[in-house]
Amino acid sequence: MSAAYTIGIDIGGTKVAGGVVDVDGVILAKARADTPHRSTSPEVVENTIVGVVEDLIAQVGPGQVSAVGIGAAGFVGADRATVVFAPHLSWRQEPLRDALFDRIGLPITVDNDANASSWAEWRFGAGRGESHLVMVNLGTGIGGGIVLGGRVERGRFGIAGEFGHMQVVPDGLRCECGNRGCWEQYSSGNALVREARTLLLANSPVADDLRARVGGDPALLTGPLVTEAAQAGDRTAIELLADVGRWLGVGIANLAAAFDPGVFVIGGGVSAAGELLLGPARETYRRQLTGRGYRPEAKIVAAQLGNDAGVIGAADLARAEAQPEVLAEASAPSADGGTREVVTSAESAEATSHPGARRVKWWRRRHTD
Ligand SMILES: [Zn+2]
Repeated sequence: MSAAYTIGIDIGGTKVAGGVVDVDGVILAKARADTPHRSTSPEVVENTIVGVVEDLIAQVGPGQVSAVGIGAAGFVGADRATVVFAPHLSWRQEPLRDALFDRIGLPITVDNDANASSWAEWRFGAGRGESHLVMVNLGTGIGGGIVLGGRVERGRFGIAGEFGHMQVVPDGLRCECGNRGCWEQYSSGNALVREARTLLLANSPVADDLRARVGGDPALLTGPLVTEAAQAGDRTAIELLADVGRWLGVGIANLAAAFDPGVFVIGGGVSAAGELLLGPARETYRRQLTGRGYRPEAKIVAAQLGNDAGVIGAADLARAEAQPEVLAEASAPSADGGTREVVTSAESAEATSHPGARRVKWWRRRHTD
C-alpha cells in the first residue's frame, strides 16, 4: 500500500510554503522558498516547487510520501491539472500537474489555495463536524471556498468561491478586477489600511494613536498594526475593524442566502483581530439575513489552522484523491448526530474527487506501466 504521508505546497504571492502532512493533518516537516517574481518563466516557478518538494522528501526519507498537492493563488481549471490564471505568477493556461508529475514522479493534484484552506478547516479545524461550510479569507483581498456535503464545490469551470468580487455597493469603489463596489473593497486587509491611511493623510485628530505607531508616515501603516492598536484599546482602530466586520456581515448574509451553510469560517490575516472583527460581523449578519427569525443561523467562527491551512489542505486533498479509502474511514457522522452521512469508500471517492476517481485509475495505470 502507499506511503503514509503526503506533501502540501501553498503558493502565495510572496512565498512557496511546503509541508509533509500525516493522515491526521499534522505537519511533520516544513520547507519554504520565496515566490519567483511574476516576470520569470513558468519553469522558474516549477523549479522552486520541485526544490521545496525535494527538501521535504530529504527531511522524511525516501518512500514516505505518496502524493503531492498544490494549492495556488489563482484560477485552477475544472480539470484540476491546469492553472488558467495566477495574478502573482507568469502562469497562463499552465499545465502544472503534468509538468510536475514528469519531474517529481508522484501523483500531483492542483487546486485553488482557498479551496485547500477550506478543506483543511473542514477536516481538521474550525469546521469539523459540519456538513456545509463556507470559508471567507480576509487577506489583501477576499478568498473563498465552499465545502458542501463533504466535497469541495469548485463550480463548472473550477473557479467557484471568488466571493471578493460580488458587488455589495452599486457604483462603489473601483476594484482592480475592473468593476465597482466589490465586496473586497470594503472588507479586507487592503480596505482596513486604506481607511486608516485616509485618516492619517487628513491629519485627523482621531488617528493620533495610529500616527504615533508609524512615526507619522502613513505609508508604513499595515493591517496588523491597526489590529495591534485596536487590541490595545485605540477607539479609532476598533471602529475601523468594526467597519470591516460590518461589511463582512453583509457579504456573509448574501452567501447564506445562496449556500445555507452550517458554519462560516473566517480566515486570513485580518481574522487575527478575532471578536473585534467577528462581533460586528455577526450583528450585521443577523440584521441582514433573509428570513431572519424563521431559520437556523449559521455560526461565524475564526479559522483555527492559521497560515498552515493551505499546506495541510493541499496535502489532504492529494491524499483524498490518491487514497479515497482513508478519507472514507475518517468521514464519520458528525458529533451532533447531524447531517453528515456515512459514506462508503466508493461513494467517498466519487464525493471527494469527482471526477478524480477516474484520475486515480489513470495514475495507477501510469505507475504500473
Ligand atoms: Zn472586483
